[in-house]
Amino acid sequence: MSVLFDKFPESFRGKIAIRESGCWDWMGSRYGNGYGRYLPPKDRRMATGKDQRVLAHRFAYTLAFGGPKNEVINHLCENKACVNPEHLEDVTQSRNVRYSLSDTCPQGHPLTRGHPNTYIHPRTDKRKCRACMRERKRAEYRADPEKFRARKRADYVANPEAARAEARSRYEQNREVMLERKRADYWRDPEKYRARAREQYNRKAQERAS
Ligand SMILES: [Zn+2]
Ligand SMILES: [Zn+2]
Repeated sequence: MSVLFDKFPESFRGKIAIRESGCWDWMGSRYGNGYGRYLPPKDRRMATGKDQRVLAHRFAYTLAFGGPKNEVINHLCENKACVNPEHLEDVTQSRNVRYSLSDTCPQGHPLTRGHPNTYIHPRTDKRKCRACMRERKRAEYRADPEKFRARKRADYVANPEAARAEARSRYEQNREVMLERKRADYWRDPEKYRARAREQYNRKAQERAS
């Protein structure tokens, strides 16, 4: 991720807020349809004519992977403000429409409301694929564990109430799946599980004491 990020012009990077989800939220101006609007530096202009501003996510895709073949670039994360090239996919319009109606995610995981794999985002009410979210987080973590943890902490500090609400909603929507995962974790390596639980407990106790 950081490798891609470094490819972007300063004026682009300055308008991005990186989310825990991996999304790069566009903080600059938007078009009426919700997509980010960006004026590239002179040597990176894509548009011809008077208005040199372009769709921010389209610029991101082009810079990262080269010009898209299709008219429409799909947000795999369903976040219109996101300009992370890895969350974007070059698709035809009809496939794009199919995604929003589809009961599976682009990777084919089940994505119907009520299905254990589906997480409903508390603010946007959009369906999210848990399997894909997990995979994305894992990849981010593997790429740079320190950075991943630092970002999590920063997100939490920036808005503890929102972070807690989101964790709560995630938990309530899927208590059973989470318990099942905990059980599986435990049986995979009980000693390690207990050690981690102890460590967490101690850390919380310390936080309370200070
Ligand atoms: Zn995204
Ligand atoms: Zn998925």
